Amino acid sequence: MTSHSLQNSLSNLKTYFGYDTLRVHQVGVIEHVLNKNDALVVMPTGGGKSMCFQLPALEFEGVTLVISPLIALMKDQVDGLKSNGIEADFFNSTQSPETQQDIKSKVANKELKLLYTAPESLSGLQEILNENYISCVAVDEAHCISSWGHDFRPSYQQLGFLKKSLPNTPVLALTATADKTTRKDILKQLSIPKAKVFLSSFDRENIFLEVRTASQRMKQIENFLLRRKDEAGIVYSLSRKSTEKIAKDLTQKGFKAKAYHAGLDPETRSKIQEEFVYDKTQIICATVAFGMGIDKSNVRWVIHYNMPKNIESYYQEIGRAGRDGLTANALMFHSYADVIQYKRFIEDGKNQEVQEAKLERMKQFSEATSCRRRVLLGYFGEHLTDNCGFCDVCKNPPRFIDAKIIAQKALSAVARVGQKEPIGVIIDILRGAKNAGIYDKGYQELKTYGIGTDISWKDWQHYILQLINLGYIELAFHRKNALEFTPLAKKVLFENEQVWLTKPKAEPVGGAETRKVSKTSNLFHQLKQLRMQISVEENIPPYLVFNDATLKEIERERPMSEEEFKSISGVNNLKAEKYADEFIEVIKLFNASKKKKKISTYEETFQLYKQGKSVEEMSKERQIRSTTIINHLCKLYAEGKAVDLHAFITDSELKKVENGLRNIKYEGTLKPIFEALDETVSYNKIRIALAILQK
Ligand code: ADP
Ligand code: ZN
Repeated sequence: MTSHSLQNSLSNLKTYFGYDTLRVHQVGVIEHVLNKNDALVVMPTGGGKSMCFQLPALEFEGVTLVISPLIALMKDQVDGLKSNGIEADFFNSTQSPETQQDIKSKVANKELKLLYTAPESLSGLQEILNENYISCVAVDEAHCISSWGHDFRPSYQQLGFLKKSLPNTPVLALTATADKTTRKDILKQLSIPKAKVFLSSFDRENIFLEVRTASQRMKQIENFLLRRKDEAGIVYSLSRKSTEKIAKDLTQKGFKAKAYHAGLDPETRSKIQEEFVYDKTQIICATVAFGMGIDKSNVRWVIHYNMPKNIESYYQEIGRAGRDGLTANALMFHSYADVIQYKRFIEDGKNQEVQEAKLERMKQFSEATSCRRRVLLGYFGEHLTDNCGFCDVCKNPPRFIDAKIIAQKALSAVARVGQKEPIGVIIDILRGAKNAGIYDKGYQELKTYGIGTDISWKDWQHYILQLINLGYIELAFHRKNALEFTPLAKKVLFENEQVWLTKPKAEPVGGAETRKVSKTSNLFHQLKQLRMQISVEENIPPYLVFNDATLKEIERERPMSEEEFKSISGVNNLKAEKYADEFIEVIKLFNASKKKKKISTYEETFQLYKQGKSVEEMSKERQIRSTTIINHLCKLYAEGKAVDLHAFITDSELKKVENGLRNIKYEGTLKPIFEALDETVSYNKIRIALAILQK
């Protein structure tokens, strides 16, 4: 039974979704569900969870009921399914009683394959909540059921009744939240204690991880964005005010950016969100409140203007990038000011120890000098055996230097001011600054004054922060962030202990970025425009017309027929029928414009030739190599244009080449001929001779 079912699934996969293969983790789940077993699927965002219930749904006789927490998300998912030719709908309290009745009749008549609803709306579905109609239950974002999770929703906790009233119906819970407690809780609350748990790797391989120091953040962001002119992304920051400031700055620089935070009224918020989903706003500057309700697969980057408060948040937020599997960027800025602010929050709040430990792990990630992905996944209990090669540390590993003298200078500056001054004053002393802050306290008299002028301000900051991270000094939060010794400091100062610090890296502000950004081609741009046009006409988000991965493949393969168009991953039968013509038209026009350019370059040479110019003159005027001019002339000659090639070669040279060709096999390269003629005839003359002889 299983292999037979999977065969049907695979054929449905192509027919409805346009994909040829299932992902490794999808196979097991789909077989399991088709055999009517319960399951818990834990997969990272973008892993393809939806397919795990959407594909079986097509094979079940009745409807698959999908429980989802957010109405906005439901609509997008249903729109996506409908655009693939699948009978789907959603049911919620905003609909009129007639619409609701209509949907229930559809279920009763087995006209629907998938029905999305929120837990709150289940009571309205009483009449159809039985096994005559329901074939499968999928609980999406299942971690909402657990009060341990970060998105706890009380309404999810009543869902246990589903298994009790539908005992023979497979229940499938899906989440991207990994931790054990939450997993256990889901099984218990849904009354599916024996459900098989499918755990996938949490590695989001396509996301490039990068952390930079926060100096000149806006400048760095601007440079980052200049290379990503129409790539959608999110800038997360901590306060409403900063989201607005960042959005304003970016708008002034000519980007389409909007602020999004909890202080805006719900209408404005949903409008901003929609414009982002429909590719009308490129950048959202948001507090963490943004993202939960969107499924947009073509978010290409996420920037953390501030360091997140823990690794869970960081992971969840970067996860909004690159759901389509194409390369995406996660760039985080790290500043000590953020750490200090969090410490204050924590001191005022509950659960101090846990929060502090989490912050500490986040800090370790930010300051990592080894592969960041290993640190990140290690936090979730997943251990990579190799470095990832796709994070800033792997790409540009830090170099350690013997920093004993540097450390001793910094520490003695701290000692001389009685451990009473913050980092800025210490650096000023080391660098011999001449400002009021120094003179007022008479620090210019200290022995350590000016002993570090050979190191720049920024580099001193880099070294001292490392000394803090490595535990030689501490920030005394209650004494205006004064630098304080730990026992380790004394070992360096008095016992001559070795200290290794990393060398500061060149600031990437100038644009020396680690990732080579693929240039958006003209064709890709045109394909995107067509996608946008279809999106507007059909009122579905662009990424639901085709996702970026599909568009890239169309760009690469340049299909010329509906059949070829259908073979693109992500193109199903319905979409091939509907859109093939339009896309092929764009490709043909693009190809034609390329060809025209080629003809015109020959034409240009021909015009000059007709004016009687020599090869050298033409080469100079057109700024192309004389060999290229010769090639043009040969091509024009072959096409029958009035070009007299004999003027460029003597009869005896022509004969020589002709004879030479008898002795060797000509396979398109000139070198063998050149050598066979003992290098007595130039390459250009051989070219000309070949053109004449071939005609
Ligand atoms: P999740 O819900 O786990 O975040 P989605 O279900 O939204 O992930 O899927 C992420 C993306 O992967 C979507 O664009 C989806 O179309 C695509 N996808 C899912 N399964 C496959 C597959 N077998 N082959 C190719 N693409 C797939
Ligand atoms: Zn790495």
